[in-house]
Amino acid sequence: MGSIRFLKCRECGAEYTPIFKYICEECFGPLDVIYDVPTDLSRDTFSSRQDKTYWRYFELLPIADKNSIVNIHAGFTPLQHAEDLGTHIGNLKNLFIKNDSVNPTFSFKDRPAGVAISKSREIKLKAVGCASTGNLASATAAHAAKAHLPCFIFAPSDIENVKIAQALSYGAKFVAVEGTYDDANRVASIIGDSKGIGIVNINMRPYYVEGSKTLAFEVAEQLNWEIPDHLIIPVGSGAMLNAICKGFEELHEIGLVGDVSNLKVTAAQPHGCAPIVDAFKKNTQIVPVERPDTIAKSLAIGDPGDGVYVLKRLKQYSGIAEEATDDEIIDGIMTLAKTEGIFTEPAGGVSIAVLKKLVDEGFIEKDEKVVCYVTGNGLKSTEAIISRLPKLDIVKPDVQTVSAMIT
Ligand SMILES: *Cc1c(COP(=O)(O)O)cnc(C)c1O
Ligand SMILES: [Zn+2]
Repeated sequence: MGSIRFLKCRECGAEYTPIFKYICEECFGPLDVIYDVPTDLSRDTFSSRQDKTYWRYFELLPIADKNSIVNIHAGFTPLQHAEDLGTHIGNLKNLFIKNDSVNPTFSFKDRPAGVAISKSREIKLKAVGCASTGNLASATAAHAAKAHLPCFIFAPSDIENVKIAQALSYGAKFVAVEGTYDDANRVASIIGDSKGIGIVNINMRPYYVEGSKTLAFEVAEQLNWEIPDHLIIPVGSGAMLNAICKGFEELHEIGLVGDVSNLKVTAAQPHGCAPIVDAFKKNTQIVPVERPDTIAKSLAIGDPGDGVYVLKRLKQYSGIAEEATDDEIIDGIMTLAKTEGIFTEPAGGVSIAVLKKLVDEGFIEKDEKVVCYVTGNGLKSTEAIISRLPKLDIVKPDVQTVSAMIT
């Protein structure tokens, strides 16, 4: 049996049975999962496990019964010591890339979606779905397929074609909304509640966010249970950033890692949709972006659900929030590909571009242990970069002509 105990309101502390519930009845605050973690867990408990998926941290995930798990072998992705990228952007000796672009559906969303759908199966929901900026669509659809559950995707119609094709291939019903992500989210929220569909990132959100904690667990384990100095995290809704912080805190609470209070956490957003960065820099409340305009479509959330909690985390962990323009994002994608052999989508380019800015601004010291989260695969959005790549010359298969080109 797992160690989930109850849901607790993040604002007023009210407690609830862990079922199909996501908003506090007293104050409408979000609900977090509280555990009763076994006291005999040690570093070795996890390090010795053969399971090379994020389910190796079962005791720290909100599933009561292991039979509920829907497993498509996501997680335990590489933590690459990025010596060449580090040298390239300013002699960083201890730079690491958490390469989550190699998950089964090619983004980190396999973590939250997999946990939420496992929970949906556990509480016997008849259908699942999500509101998506693109990647969650496929992560939800793939897990739903494996769980034999009908799946309904709500997403803006203008996301990358390849992301639509991928989600449809898993057999999901795709509702292409004419509008923004926030429009799709609003519709999904009402339909999910009225039809009893488990919308993974809305009415299943308390469980959903727990999946992303494993991005902290894996990094800690891969660094031999040392806490890094600085995390760079791409931010859309802000759920992942919060979950990663919660993950490191839980590891500390159960004694697997040391003090986390010196950790620094930075939020990275694209210039065309940076409501959290704006609020951070101007020290104001978050003002939603009406019309996001960025190649980083997976981060195009104008009204970030967890934005206020991201701002709290940045304060708590003395981090900053920084943005990157489309050109800087493309430069980030190319730099990562050329130095480390990792091809990421624009969201990952945002992380790299912001990392570079922080180094240039002297906010990152050369010997700091920095972990930069690369959350999605470049094959998912080639449309965004193809026009900025060298044009191809089509040639006849003639050795002399080709030979002249090889210089
Ligand atoms: C969804 C997504 C993010 C942002 O995650 P949030 O939890 O919404 O902040 C980052 N990168 C990629 C590739 C994504 O798909
Ligand atoms: Zn409450």
